[in-house]
Amino acid sequence: MNTPNTYTNGEITVRYDPKKCTHSEHCAQELSEVFRTAVIPWIHLDAASSERIAQQVSRCPSGALSCQRIGMCTAVK
Ligand code: SF4
Repeated sequence: MNTPNTYTNGEITVRYDPKKCTHSEHCAQELSEVFRTAVIPWIHLDAASSERIAQQVSRCPSGALSCQRIGMCTAVK
């Protein structure tokens, strides 16, 4: 189940902490199908593979994005 800052597709759970976000827009520029700036909910996990999403989460420079899936995510914070 998705909550305002937690999103899941059943394989991966992505969390967003708006207090940490520095608005670098790495996520929206590099994977715009998932990290959408003009649509609510802004994280759409059905638009890419869980592997690709985890890869993008690991590129978040502030730590605002984190994810959980054993053996896959490198960005669990
Ligand atoms: S990459 Fe991270 S810091 Fe940059 S806009 Fe996305 S969530 Fe915020």
